[in-house]
Amino acid sequence: MHFVTILGSTGSIGESTLDVISQHPEKYTIYALTGCRQLQKLAQQSVQFKAKYAVVTDESSAKQLTNLIQDLKGTTEVIFGVDALSEVAANSQVDIVMAAIVGAAGLLPTLSAVKTGKKVLLANKESLVMAGSIFMSAVKQYGATLLPIDSEHNAIFQCLPHNYKDSHQSAISKLILSASGGPFRTWNIEKIAEATPAQACAHPNWSMGNKISIDSASMMNKGLECIEAKWLFDTSMDKIEVLIHPQSIVHSLVQYIDGSVLAQLGNPDMRTPIAHGLAWPQRLSSGVADLNLSEIAQLTFEQPDLTKFPCLQLAYNAAQAGGDAPAVLNAANEVAVQAFLDTRVGFTAIPQIVEKTLESFNFYEPESLAAVQESDNRARVTAESVIKRSES
Ligand code: NAD
Ligand code: MG
Repeated sequence: MHFVTILGSTGSIGESTLDVISQHPEKYTIYALTGCRQLQKLAQQSVQFKAKYAVVTDESSAKQLTNLIQDLKGTTEVIFGVDALSEVAANSQVDIVMAAIVGAAGLLPTLSAVKTGKKVLLANKESLVMAGSIFMSAVKQYGATLLPIDSEHNAIFQCLPHNYKDSHQSAISKLILSASGGPFRTWNIEKIAEATPAQACAHPNWSMGNKISIDSASMMNKGLECIEAKWLFDTSMDKIEVLIHPQSIVHSLVQYIDGSVLAQLGNPDMRTPIAHGLAWPQRLSSGVADLNLSEIAQLTFEQPDLTKFPCLQLAYNAAQAGGDAPAVLNAANEVAVQAFLDTRVGFTAIPQIVEKTLESFNFYEPESLAAVQESDNRARVTAESVIKRSES
């Protein structure tokens, strides 16, 4: 029996993880679930899966959640705060942690799981973008098993030989990340400038949380994923390419020096990479329908348009600049995305806010987590002042 903590169980990835786990109660027991605002959902999940702990961010949410769980006759103990998140990620009873909190808030608890040598299923790409060097050093130092859940990285992981870091690195010529192109792939720039949050969140193939949906529409998501791939697979940015593939069936590809290209295919449903991560190195049924290629009939590919989607170029540049540039990019993007969701700024302001924030920084190599967080904080303040200036 495996004991699992799901960081961010009320989100899209969290719910898909519980769906897979519910199909295999003989293999997985929930130790802890965590959430932020959707307390009713968290109470219902905690009771259904008999979680030992449920974690929320603050005391007042903890009181509300306790009452909701009592109403449902549940026995889950409610705790709160950042330290509580880290505690349920690091507890010695737990052997698998799903890291599915969105954004920078996921970094500390995910690192706590890494530092206790757990099997960590990483959906929270922002933690690698922010602190890739520190994060990957900790994975090595503490012997954690890091398994990528982002569908592209999970696909690449499946297409690589297990020991590729030792002897196969030089055999790989390219990692090719596929991208759907998002809801605005066929829109012109003028129309994109008028896009509403609802239009940006309406992804053609994937059902996801708001932040990653907006990132997919701006293609910042693919930029963050290139940086994520660089750290996960210990490779340089010039070996990473993006390929637009609107059907989202080929999840990514690895090109070898002999001309072979290996790809992983599947229906666009996150339960596949989640089941892969949970069971690795075995396999587990996930509830995802069989892929019917003759019905899909056509798989198409095209180059990304960097003029229409400047966020992708900004992310490449930040990755090339190195140091704290990706952390600054990530924080400025989180602020810009929230401002767009709050209809304070238009869609095309997102890359402008990120670019202006990046321009005001002299990048340096942050040696500690505190230094990363300092860059993250400063970037948020700068991005907010860029937005305020645009509002006045
Ligand atoms: P979501 O918005 O649906 O869920 C986010 C979860 O994080 C929720 O449980 C929420 O309660 C929690 N959370 C938010 N802010 C928090 C805070 N400050 N403190 C503690 N908890 C907080 O997001 P999602 O779509 O499930 O994505 C989660 C992560 O997985 C993101 O990093 C995203 O980039 C990544 N990811 C998602 C998908 C997908 O298909 N949804 C695919 C690949 C990667
Ligand atoms: Mg992805």
